[in-house]
Amino acid sequence: MDSLFSAQTRRADLDSLAAAPVDLLVIGGGITGAGIARDAALRGIRTALLDAGDFGGGTSSRSTRLVHGGLRYLEHGWLRLVFEASRERRVLLRIAPHLVRPMPFLFPVHAGGRVGRWRLAAGLWLYDLLSAFRNVHTHRTLSRRAVQKAEPQLRSRDLVGGAVYYDAYCNDARLVLANARAAHRSGALVANYAAVRSFEKADGQIRGALVDDVLEGRRFTIHARVIVNATGPWTDAIRRLDEPDAQPLLRPTKGVHVAVPRQRVGNAGALTITSPVDGRVMFILPSDEITIIGTTDTDYAGDPAAVTPTADDVTYLLRSANAVFPDARLAPQDVIAAWAGLRPLLKDGVEGTTAAVPREHRICESAAGLLTIAGGKLTTYRVMATELVDVVATKLHRIDGRPVPERAPTDVEPLPGGEVADLDLLVRELVKEQVPAQVARHLVNTYGSEAMAVANLAARDSALAEPLGPGVPILKAEVVHQARREMAVSVGDVMLRRTHLFHRHPSQGTEVTPVVAGLLARELDWDAAREAASLAGYLAEVQRMRQALTPPPAS
Ligand SMILES: Cc1cc2nc3c(=O)[nH]c(=O)nc-3n(C[C@H](O)[C@H](O)[C@H](O)COP(=O)(O)OP(=O)(O)OC[C@H]3O[C@@H](n4cnc5c(N)ncnc54)[C@H](O)[C@@H]3O)c2cc1C
Repeated sequence: MDSLFSAQTRRADLDSLAAAPVDLLVIGGGITGAGIARDAALRGIRTALLDAGDFGGGTSSRSTRLVHGGLRYLEHGWLRLVFEASRERRVLLRIAPHLVRPMPFLFPVHAGGRVGRWRLAAGLWLYDLLSAFRNVHTHRTLSRRAVQKAEPQLRSRDLVGGAVYYDAYCNDARLVLANARAAHRSGALVANYAAVRSFEKADGQIRGALVDDVLEGRRFTIHARVIVNATGPWTDAIRRLDEPDAQPLLRPTKGVHVAVPRQRVGNAGALTITSPVDGRVMFILPSDEITIIGTTDTDYAGDPAAVTPTADDVTYLLRSANAVFPDARLAPQDVIAAWAGLRPLLKDGVEGTTAAVPREHRICESAAGLLTIAGGKLTTYRVMATELVDVVATKLHRIDGRPVPERAPTDVEPLPGGEVADLDLLVRELVKEQVPAQVARHLVNTYGSEAMAVANLAARDSALAEPLGPGVPILKAEVVHQARREMAVSVGDVMLRRTHLFHRHPSQGTEVTPVVAGLLARELDWDAAREAASLAGYLAEVQRMRQALTPPPAS
């Protein structure tokens, strides 16, 4: 079984960091920073990974959750990006098969739509070509009748045909967590809720960072030979801690998703559509009993921590979905949840529409030696990490003459939980151990090869075999597992990023939060005040989302 990854390991790792220097401090535990820490630790570099909040709490838990070549990018001629991302799709399907799964997408074509049949066919041929015809399957064009058969609720007026192509769908927040855990397993010192507040310099070079342990109320300095800024939408804020006059590298754009009951939309599978409102490419994605609709793409200049969906964002998404699924008649009151994230896109002097801002990444170094990695995508995080750690390794060689380590096998080494080729076999093994089939499927899809560990917790203590509550099919054992092995240290960590109950449950799971808080309190040795504070923190988050969705009163 994998090593522990918990509040205790967090405390011990922070103690070690306060006591002795590291080679590399990675600021930011989104997918970019977690990927870098895993790569560096695998190369034997003494690494620390810190996030000001929870792992993936920034953009990386608010994505469309696609591990994709990026069909849309063909329109902009970003062929290299599509090629690279297609290769990464293959890699991630292999190293985390439980978290990244193949998904067919239907692209319907309506007469008068922005993308016609021939353009779509040409684009999909190129898409398959750029994946060297090694995608899950090659695309298929469909007649009007075949599209109707596949998606009977789709608008039939003006429908002329369509195509099915393949990409992958992932659990974004758990992919981040898997990378952070992998880094820890390879020796990195890792903590969430540890925020970098300022840098310490000697001879004009950054030598350390002042860090607040937000959970325990401690403050200390971490000394590091190299420091990497991997903070997504916070990139420029961290750069300004080093160079107060630094010009912005980023042009962040906001993307909103909504979740609605799937039976209202009636979509059989995943669809790629062009919004009838403005012609933008959008996705309608099934996730068990809900449908996720996204996304918007609008410039955003405010505080990254304050980004929220607005009533206008929701209206746009619902109008777009209603235009392709006319019987859905979705209205704001049908929205189960809505969430917003910020794309940390490179500024690069691009003017014009946000969709045309390149999704590529850049590595740069300040005069004081701060390395910053900006831009990129969830899909290409591993490539970004490799490039960045190459730079770190060379820098360390220059500093103390140590040999430059070989590249780490991050493309073949499975992520935690990914040590499994056949998920169905795992499900069958759990069923043999008397785990109900539906529970077994859920555990395998969430924890992969670690599903048995969760099932064992439930088997040893029958109270933990119960679900959190009626209609909430998450086992109590999962919360215990998440506290011990996934560093869940707050109710929000469980509800938002480890179970996604916030995004998928009609009441954001608020009726079971006392149960979650109770289980965490026992695991983490909380007193009543701390338990209440954690509960209140999550309820405030729920309230913030609901308030953002309430239209302002008509004046
Ligand atoms: C709406 C939307 C949809 C998207 N869909 C897709 C998709 O389908 N597929 C895809 O490939 N990509 C997608 N992307 C892009 C992808 O999600 C991002 O490129 C990626 O998640 C960025 O990760 P990151 O680690 O760079 O940033 P983040 O995930 O934001 O991580 C940065 C972290 O830095 C931490 N931090 C900030 N300040 C400090 C500090 N002082 N000290 C310590 N830590 C700090 C934050 O807490 C945060 O966790 C989408 C993005 C958006 C917004």
